[in-house]
Amino acid sequence: MPTKYIFITGGVVSSLGKGLASASIGCLLESRGFKVTFLKFDPYLNIDPGTMSPFQHGEVYVTRDGAETDLDLGHYELFTNARLTQANNVTTGRIYLSVINKERRGEYLGKTIQVVPHITDEIKQSALKLSTGVDVVIAEIGGTIGDIESMPFLEAIRQFKYDVGRQNVLYVHVTLVPYIAAAGELKTKPTQHSVKELMQIGIQPDILLCRTDRFLSKEIKSKISLFCNVKEKAVITAKDVDNIYQVPLVFRKEGLDGIIVELLGLKSKVNKNDLREWEDLVNRLTNPKYSVNIVIVGKYIDLQDSYKSLGEALTHGGLANQSKVNLKWIDAEDIEKDGAKAHLLSADGILVPGGFGNRGIEGKIAAIRYARENNTPFLGICLGMHCAAIEFARNVCGLIKANSSEFDKDTPHPVIALLPDQKDIEDKGGTMRLGEYPCNLKKNSFAYKAYKKVKIGERHRHRYEFNNDYRKQLSDAGLSFSGLSPGDKLVEIIEAPEHPWFVACQFHPEFKSNIRNPHPIFKDFVAAGLAAAKK
Ligand code: GLN
Repeated sequence: MPTKYIFITGGVVSSLGKGLASASIGCLLESRGFKVTFLKFDPYLNIDPGTMSPFQHGEVYVTRDGAETDLDLGHYELFTNARLTQANNVTTGRIYLSVINKERRGEYLGKTIQVVPHITDEIKQSALKLSTGVDVVIAEIGGTIGDIESMPFLEAIRQFKYDVGRQNVLYVHVTLVPYIAAAGELKTKPTQHSVKELMQIGIQPDILLCRTDRFLSKEIKSKISLFCNVKEKAVITAKDVDNIYQVPLVFRKEGLDGIIVELLGLKSKVNKNDLREWEDLVNRLTNPKYSVNIVIVGKYIDLQDSYKSLGEALTHGGLANQSKVNLKWIDAEDIEKDGAKAHLLSADGILVPGGFGNRGIEGKIAAIRYARENNTPFLGICLGMHCAAIEFARNVCGLIKANSSEFDKDTPHPVIALLPDQKDIEDKGGTMRLGEYPCNLKKNSFAYKAYKKVKIGERHRHRYEFNNDYRKQLSDAGLSFSGLSPGDKLVEIIEAPEHPWFVACQFHPEFKSNIRNPHPIFKDFVAAGLAAAKK
């Protein structure tokens, strides 16, 4: 069977949930036994989102091989068994860079390099490259129909159908069907316009995912079908849901995967289209027994998309403990203003996540001190680990000016510093310590209790590291270095062993958490929070 391709575009407005729709299609196809992979096209000129501010872009997701990618890749890995790499996120910048490099090497000798066919060919190649070993490539085009910058991608996917055969390609368009309260009606016009715009570029969508707050009636579906040249049963309600994990269930109810396999001529590889495990997880998620209050002391708290994977990982940790996790996001600067107690008294667990730059650092350090001194379970991630090391050095070891050289170049005690191999790097793009690295755990640590094994691998994204010159002093004062890179070179986890649960890691465990496999660190952090709540 040739590889099939599903291209997903979005119309009317942004933020309709194309990423989740793509991930859910993957989930449904996997439930029928198909192997899927994903491709996210991002029409911006950056090579990757690694140098963008979280305010611009939301979370930068990190793949196993160290690609800094769009957060939608996080959704894809959350919902399916696909494990993604650099090749699964392609930006305009990356496409142009590759074409220009080829031009310099003389690969197009004699030719004028043009958007069509050179850029479009490069785009098509990036999809074709993913076809080995998978049944379906699900490719999402970022942005909204009508954007100037997504034009080359749309032209490329239009041509693609004729390259690989029409029976192997499906176009899915995500649109909005708003309910206008004053008229008491759902409106189909924006969808009609959006489809018209797609058709002007030569793409006739096969399936419409209509984002709306209520199920579409048969009447509405048939109206959309008539105006948009789409079969009535291919007009699918993409109804708002309470949690993202319900999306595949809504699509299943609407018959989305049935129509996909029918249109692509796919033969299901398993007899029962098994979503029972997923249904069961969603049921447990929506009917928790307990509840726990976790306070996240961060910097980009107005934009929870900046900590997307983190929020999900905590949800998974809750699921593993039959608990709802109430997240409270506190701006570290508010702790600087009001003191830690004012914001942390109700916390059953405190989490300080990753971040860059020194705004709010002192607030984070104060929050960690509060957690350590009041026996509140604590999880620090990356920058959170840096702050935990600084806090311990200052308040336990008496190195009052301890800091990270990221925040204070002249600190007399750089407990966090650049490693020699980072010192000469000047370029900012893609030069951090990125991707999955091995780590060995010390037995009898919180980390070992969580993972239940010695050798682990976790994903990194940072430039600064714990400074080994301070290992002995901090260890003598009671800090445990419970996770080290092979050969004991780099500090990957620190813990306060006398505390009920105090763990800070250099890596980002949230990138590997999954509703099917809640991450052990988050599972135990939530468990510790529940134990604290019971007291
Ligand atoms: N800013 C710190 C560094 O670059 C931490 C990064 C992070 O938290 N991801 O090392």
